[in-house]
Amino acid sequence: MQQVYEGENPVDAHLVASYLRANGLHPRVVHDQLWSVAVEVMTTPGVLPAVEVPAVEVETALRLIEDWRKQPAPQGRPWTCPQCGAVNEAQFSQCWQCGYQLPPEPGQ
Ligand SMILES: [Zn+2]
Repeated sequence: MQQVYEGENPVDAHLVASYLRANGLHPRVVHDQLWSVAVEVMTTPGVLPAVEVPAVEVETALRLIEDWRKQPAPQGRPWTCPQCGAVNEAQFSQCWQCGYQLPPEPGQ
């Protein structure tokens, strides 16, 4: 596994991981379980929650994360897929579980 992303907090790291997972990769979040300790040593390198992927997926992951960073800040609330009932983060327009595509927002 190779690290492709370092999160500001566990939620951030898990968001990136679920984003990569939704794109067919196999990410793993590391260090998030240390968070309660890490809060006190946040600036220490290596204790921030991070996302790792298998070496063969690094290139794809970095490209996806690049796209991720270009996205505007997440707005709105998580939404529940009308097709399969899975809960999706607000910034995703496609269901991670079944691929249901949200209709575009009015005015876009
Ligand atoms: Zn769904």
